[in-house]
Amino acid sequence: MRRLTQTPELGIPFPYSPIPTACRTTPELFVYDVGDSDQARAAQAGLACTACPIATACLKWALANPALTTEGVWAGTIPRQRRALRRRLADRLGKNWTTVVADYDQRLREQRETVRHSPLTVAQARIVRMDRELNGPMPRPRTISPVQQRRNRARLAGAA
Ligand code: SF4
Repeated sequence: MRRLTQTPELGIPFPYSPIPTACRTTPELFVYDVGDSDQARAAQAGLACTACPIATACLKWALANPALTTEGVWAGTIPRQRRALRRRLADRLGKNWTTVVADYDQRLREQRETVRHSPLTVAQARIVRMDRELNGPMPRPRTISPVQQRRNRARLAGAA
């Protein structure tokens, strides 16, 4: 299992995964040192990342924590690709881009909380009740959908 030896960027926490991620179950696949020539293994790790439910948030965390991710494959990226992405983010959002991203995430979380705690109208509550009676409770997906997997793959390919 990967160990963190330095303080992570607190504004961008490492995401929780509902299932064990590939880098936890097969950490040897994700080993990649600077100058490593085993591109096949890195590609295999990258492919595993496309099926990961927390790939996007993992990439954000990896980019926000350069000192903790100097090596290895994180969210389908190798160190050189992460350096390039950090440069692009700094160009777009400024030198303190991690703060900008953390603030944006915080606002998004607050908005979601607000929506979650807004009471339903009588009509909405009736619809929800009827839907539950007809269809039962919503199934909880154990893994990500093919659509989400395709989206992850596209995002990670765009990062390369
Ligand atoms: S996306 Fe991140 S958490 Fe998921 S398998 Fe890849 S390195 Fe691990």
